Amino acid sequence: MTRVHNFSAGPAALPEVVLAQAQAEMLDWEGAGMSVMEMSHRGREFGQIISEAEADLRTLLAVPGNYRILFLQGGATLQFSAIPLNLMGRGGAPDYVVTGEWSSKALKEAGRFGSVNVAASTPAGAHDHVPPWGEWRLDPAAAYVHYCSNETVHGVEFHWVPETGGVPLVADMSSHLLSGPLDVSRFGLIYAGAQKNIGPAGLVIVIVRDDLLGGASPQCPGLLDYKLNADAGSMPNTPATYSIYIAGLVFKWLLAGGGLTAIDRANDEKARLLYDFIDSSTLYTNPVAIPDRSRMNVPFMLRRPGLDDGFLAGAEARGLVQLRGHRSLGGMRASLYNAMPIEGVRALVEYMREFQTQHG
Ligand SMILES: *Cc1c(COP(=O)(O)O)cnc(C)c1O
Repeated sequence: MTRVHNFSAGPAALPEVVLAQAQAEMLDWEGAGMSVMEMSHRGREFGQIISEAEADLRTLLAVPGNYRILFLQGGATLQFSAIPLNLMGRGGAPDYVVTGEWSSKALKEAGRFGSVNVAASTPAGAHDHVPPWGEWRLDPAAAYVHYCSNETVHGVEFHWVPETGGVPLVADMSSHLLSGPLDVSRFGLIYAGAQKNIGPAGLVIVIVRDDLLGGASPQCPGLLDYKLNADAGSMPNTPATYSIYIAGLVFKWLLAGGGLTAIDRANDEKARLLYDFIDSSTLYTNPVAIPDRSRMNVPFMLRRPGLDDGFLAGAEARGLVQLRGHRSLGGMRASLYNAMPIEGVRALVEYMREFQTQHG
């Protein structure tokens, strides 16, 4: 068996030890005589799996007691609808900050449910930085402020948390939640699709402050109502049981490795290695303003045209896969989520250096 180094933006690589444990438990989970996939979500065994997953996630992020953790479905994309449906009625038109592909989509979807403001943005085609705080025009009466704290396509990451006073701050953290410590108390609501940095597809995690429950609009489908989901322990219907189980194993893997402080250090080291090489190279460029570069998603371009396919073929031959950039940007993108070991980044940099010597 040969495992590749998988740089996919999502669904993305998972820790090998987690996959091995899932394999070992596949036919018989802890003496239950069945796979987790075959269990009733209402049974004792799965009850243990979901409550341990929640407790471990609480520990990892030091989630305060007045926040609920929900394990839902529909991806981050369905949250683009759930957020306005639950929160819009709390105040004036919500403020959206647009910094790339995903925050643009969130804005567009929210517009289906009422009027929305753009409080700050970077121009389409130039999503290469975070709008400076001085340019933000926030409405103190807004129902909430929404932003995407790591733009997966454009490789733009907020390394600071906006201060929105009494207005609830809502963040799409799909591609960097659990990449380092986070002060949850600064947010009203955090959400993240699991398939980037947490687990398999089919699961989205929502961390929501108590006082934001119970305000859903009358048109809000029951299954999107945060209060209904919280009251039912994320189980008004069948949840994504297997995805929750794997995410739980990932939480235990993070805790065993020293928690978010340890993974934060590892992520710094990996990102520095790749960016330092790109910046010192003659063939590769990264378009993002240095202070706003993502540690998780690193888009890079080759300065000479016509080399992309050859670069990708050579990479694949060395077991460095899924490096093709997003269709809207072209070029390459290396995603360096928690599960990517430093050896994978070293192998990538070594290959990039070789390719540059041959074609630079
Ligand atoms: C991938 C991604 C999404 C969409 O996730 P789905 O689970 O496919 O709906 C939304 N926001 C961000 C930041 C993402 O990276």
